[in-house]
Amino acid sequence: MNYVSTRDVSANPIGVTSAEAIKKGLAPDKGLYMPTAIPSLSLSDIEEIAALPYEKRAARILSMFLCDYDKDKLLSDCTEAYSEERFPGGAAPLVHIGDGVYSLELWHGPTCAFKDMALQIMPRLLSSALKMTGEEKRAHILVATSGDTGKAALEGYRDVDGIDITVYFPVDGVSTMQKMQMTTQAGENVNVMAVYGNFDDAQNGVKAIFADSDLAKKAEECGFFFSSANSINWGRLAPQIVYYVSAYCDLVKSGAVKLGEKMNVCVPTGNFGNIFAAYIAKTMGLPIDKMICASNANCVLTDFINTGLYDRQRVFHKTMSPSMDILISSNLERLLFLLGGAETTKDCMEKLTRDGKYQAPDSLMEKIRETFYGYSASEEETAATIKATYEKKNYLADPHTCVALGCLEKYRRDTGDSTPCVVASTASPYKFSQDVCASLGSPCTSDEPAVILDTLEKLSGTTAPAPLKATLTMPVRFKSVCDPKDMADCIFNG
Ligand SMILES: *Cc1c(COP(=O)(O)O)cnc(C)c1O
Repeated sequence: MNYVSTRDVSANPIGVTSAEAIKKGLAPDKGLYMPTAIPSLSLSDIEEIAALPYEKRAARILSMFLCDYDKDKLLSDCTEAYSEERFPGGAAPLVHIGDGVYSLELWHGPTCAFKDMALQIMPRLLSSALKMTGEEKRAHILVATSGDTGKAALEGYRDVDGIDITVYFPVDGVSTMQKMQMTTQAGENVNVMAVYGNFDDAQNGVKAIFADSDLAKKAEECGFFFSSANSINWGRLAPQIVYYVSAYCDLVKSGAVKLGEKMNVCVPTGNFGNIFAAYIAKTMGLPIDKMICASNANCVLTDFINTGLYDRQRVFHKTMSPSMDILISSNLERLLFLLGGAETTKDCMEKLTRDGKYQAPDSLMEKIRETFYGYSASEEETAATIKATYEKKNYLADPHTCVALGCLEKYRRDTGDSTPCVVASTASPYKFSQDVCASLGSPCTSDEPAVILDTLEKLSGTTAPAPLKATLTMPVRFKSVCDPKDMADCIFNG
């Protein structure tokens, strides 16, 4: 199985191996890599997989997509990535919160957000890809972050063979907790740098480094090349397919559904990566019926699903679910390709770049609507869902998860569809303690991380995750701040 660009309109696209797709990230024509065929999963496969622990479920699914990878190596990488040490209590537990709604908790990893599910394994996949493609240089990962991704990337890439990583964050653009998490980062191959300005300044600085051919030459002379940890890399998407298969297996094992009976899936969506992984699982044969695409006030996807018009030219809202504050959902391109083909995809993406919007053909929208329902939740609705979920279901959930729970409620009300539904729970409520406390009706005014965690613990009677508590006492390793124009210096002088 090869990987082809979503924008390759040639009659017989040749494509690249999965190792090359993971090493390159983006295709040369700026399209995203997609497998030429989606492998199939039968009910008896699912029965077999259900008997396995998470790391073996992961190795089994990944090997179906990464055909050029050594199976034993995949298993040993998955075993390390999803170990008890990294995911205490299991990688993706499924919790029934009532009425056939199941919370798939994807935040039990080292940084307490769902990005860990992909970023614990992806660096190992890249490390193998470098070896498999005979790459002699080291890869240097550059990340600009507004919070969650930077920390998850640092944890994932720390001390991985053949790779170094530098993360830039805007000095005043991340929360106290997020800053603590990054500046105390352990690892021999990691570097963290604060940048004067906002997220866009940091992001533009990283883009400028990628585009600078002198810097690329200098890097080559020093024995490395620049690479990104972007969510459009297939190596980040493939590991996300696993937990939907895993969730279905757990539903079957618990007797909530019979093997072959369908479940629905509801996903709080930003870049469309997480929900697209569920769609791949469905395409493979996993019994998924409807998929609810949940957005916050930045409801560009809700509008797209309902009207076929994707229009990024709109007001940007800062919300309490910041990881979904996105107006360009990059991975949607993969859905257009899968259901509409390369020709349509290329056309839509060119229009998006040129006009800031596109209208997808009706025939494509009909296919999308066979499965996808788009809903959005306002800030008020999300706060109310946090409160109601805690008070009525005794379940404490973060704002991203509650956007999804709020959307699911609307979907169920509109359609009367009470099929068991797996809701992707994407962050620990303790990562967003202040908003959660405020939604529960007891705002916490302190900026002290220790006080913030403590307040939510007392309020909810639950315990903050160990990795978040641990950062409170870890020494700060990275204290420098630089100007956006000097961002490359620390890579060569560090
Ligand atoms: C990244 C993120 C999302 C959005 O996931 P996409 O794959 O970009 O759709 C949702 N919730 C949290 C907490 C995240 O970190």
